[in-house]
Amino acid sequence: MASRNRIPVAILGATGAVGQRFVQLLADHPWFELAALAASERSAGRAYGEACKWVIPGDPPSHIGDHLVRALVPDLPARIVFSAVPADVAREIEPQFAQHGYLVCSNASAFRNVADVPLLIPELNADHLAMIERQREQRGWSGLLVTSPNCTITGVAMALKPLDDAFGVRKVFMTSMQALSGAGYPGVSALDITDNVIPYIAGEEEKFQQELQKLLGHVSEGTLMPADLVVSAHANRVPVLDGHTVSLSVGFEQHPTPDEAIDVLRAYRPAPAAIGLPSSPVHLIRVRTEPDRPQPRRDRDAEGGMGLSVGRIRPCPILDLRMTTVIHNTLRGAASGAILNAELLVAAGYAEV
Ligand code: NAP
Repeated sequence: MASRNRIPVAILGATGAVGQRFVQLLADHPWFELAALAASERSAGRAYGEACKWVIPGDPPSHIGDHLVRALVPDLPARIVFSAVPADVAREIEPQFAQHGYLVCSNASAFRNVADVPLLIPELNADHLAMIERQREQRGWSGLLVTSPNCTITGVAMALKPLDDAFGVRKVFMTSMQALSGAGYPGVSALDITDNVIPYIAGEEEKFQQELQKLLGHVSEGTLMPADLVVSAHANRVPVLDGHTVSLSVGFEQHPTPDEAIDVLRAYRPAPAAIGLPSSPVHLIRVRTEPDRPQPRRDRDAEGGMGLSVGRIRPCPILDLRMTTVIHNTLRGAASGAILNAELLVAAGYAEV
């Protein structure tokens, strides 16, 4: 796993559902060497194989079970840390790591809506890295903190960014059907979710508007100007293992036809800074034209779980257009998305000491 040229990285929350995805993805990464695993006091001091109940598809990398789990303190032998801890823990420890010089790439919601913290999907808003200079000045950090968006709004933002650039998104009405893995492990009780849909996910709907405004916003002189749009959301938990589906109605400043929207989505080119990174998908957006796609089981693995599938693009009698999106929540919506953020930071020179 080790190579002298690779950048040492650590995972905070390595025993959790997202942490395990990081372990899997970083085992063979061309730029990063997995140098430390950290988790709660329950796990610290134990071998990873003992402390962690492996719950994600596929086997753990060989020999990882022997690695010692460390405590969440900023003395890890790493340059970059991937954070996959609960938000209340992230709020406390992520600034400590940034203060001690680490490049922190977080999956937690704690700092997503803080003014000087970039919320990144590199293909859409790599230019938001311009906020980092101000972050470091204001906080006196030698490190830095960037965040990945909520896993559900990630797919929505990927569909709406090209359409916003072309037609101006103003109103979004969205109903999510969110997979079980989005609740971590053990997550929702089998007795609650089998043969059922739960029409409530604590704190989720509030995140959608704020994060979408930030993701589609513009950065000027290091300051973010949020996008001028409103979101009405219904968040549901459904008995799907991986892959968040969202049904959307969207109102635009200009009023595109379905064909115009499809043309724009197909023609979209990611921000140049995000092209050619190890985790960048070749095709960011797949437009499905079959009447019954996208579906989570069939489409969540598009582009190794990094691509967006969008389909059912049709007129809306209330707003302008209706559509459905599917995104892999623990890959693009969590671990792989954060690794892509780290690759962007490296390519932009932030990992150089
Ligand atoms: P999880 O399965 O519950 O894992 C939580 C991890 O954090 C474990 O490693 C756990 O360590 C550690 N932890 C828990 N309580 C702690 C404490 N008090 N102090 C220190 N460490 C503690 O959760 P998850 O689904 O992986 O989610 C992790 C983070 O990613 C959350 O902030 C979540 O909102 C975010 N996220 C999740 C998804 C998703 O699809 N699941 C998507 C995007 C973002 P122990 O094993 O030692 O307890």
